[in-house]
Amino acid sequence: MDRDWVTRSACKGLDPTIFYPSTDEEADEAKEVCAACPVQESCLEHAIGHREHNGVWGGATERERQRIIRRRRRLRSMSATGESAVSAAGAR
Ligand code: SF4
Repeated sequence: MDRDWVTRSACKGLDPTIFYPSTDEEADEAKEVCAACPVQESCLEHAIGHREHNGVWGGATERERQRIIRRRRRLRSMSATGESAVSAAGAR
């Protein structure tokens, strides 16, 4: 995977501990930096693709990335079976 995006990151040179908060509730400072980052999407996809288990990447904590992964799996599964998101939502 192309890592050129790293050189354009908004977190370059910042204290990395900001991006490794103890709890999700302490991730706001990192998320604010990520929100203004020009490579947020590449960063998030890198973290998801490499199963990064720690820290804030692409504006998402580990727990949030897990949610994204589960949602994508669900959508792929629905797509494979021809199920629509609307009918799946109604089934809950
Ligand atoms: S999205 Fe956040 S963690 Fe990723 S490169 Fe940008 S500032 Fe750094």
